[in-house]
Amino acid sequence: MRNIEVYEVGPRDGFQSVGEYIPLETKFQIIEGLLSAGIEHIQITSFVSPKSIPQMKDAKDLASKCAKNHPGTDFFALVPNLRGAEAAWESGLKWITYVVSLSESHNRANINRSHKDSYTELQKILKTYAQMDICLDVATTFGCPFEGKKSEEDILTFLKPYVDCGIRTVNLCDTIGIANPVQVRNTIDAVRNEYPSLDLQVHIHDTRNMGMVNTLAAIEHGVRKVQSTLGGLGGCPYAPGASGNLATEDLVFMLSEMGYEMNIDVPKMIELSKYQAEAVPKGKFSGHLYTVAEGNCNV
Ligand code: ZN
Repeated sequence: MRNIEVYEVGPRDGFQSVGEYIPLETKFQIIEGLLSAGIEHIQITSFVSPKSIPQMKDAKDLASKCAKNHPGTDFFALVPNLRGAEAAWESGLKWITYVVSLSESHNRANINRSHKDSYTELQKILKTYAQMDICLDVATTFGCPFEGKKSEEDILTFLKPYVDCGIRTVNLCDTIGIANPVQVRNTIDAVRNEYPSLDLQVHIHDTRNMGMVNTLAAIEHGVRKVQSTLGGLGGCPYAPGASGNLATEDLVFMLSEMGYEMNIDVPKMIELSKYQAEAVPKGKFSGHLYTVAEGNCNV
């Protein structure tokens, strides 16, 4: 169990926080850089309304280019609805993450839908695209800017209909970086005890410099799949002052030093992070790139 899979989500979670449009070629170059450094799973974009997030207006072109140039690679994209799933499928993607927030207020703020409507929409996707793999991204699992923290019981109750309808992969997201290691361990225990067949991932923001310690808590509690972003790029538009994700290069460095088998080239990742800081408008390299996020569909 010394093998950890890193899911790079910067091209989605990081780029969406950059207001100025990043040219498709630059995005593609960074994605190829990630592949050449040894990253095997990349969330390349989100299929959302360009009115909500203009940065993602090239989702279809970028996804098609990635799928065409690197067939067989584990690319995935975030979708909030059936239309997004359709666009992902047509672009050649085989798996998607469907985002829903544990907190209903955040769900409404993020994707303008009630919990009930989010669930109904997922049923449509499952029915139409039975051949696609779907990961359920549960935003605000560890706390919400509007509703605070939920109990483990709330999380289990929330997940039940999703597990019942066939969801097998769940990504527990600390959207605003408010988790602590005890909470991470207790949440994982609770979910695993109730739904032992679920494949769990974590996605933990670094708002309070706790992204690393919380992600490590999840790993040491048996989670093998963890998400992060190159350069720590990212944020949450619904939490004033919240900034940054866990930087992939830092995470990989730590895990490699600890003896985990990563097969990821750390110096290459750092070089790529520096390149990104220059190439992405308003970016800067300091281990973390703090930017003010605009738009929605944050996980
Ligand atoms: Zn996120």
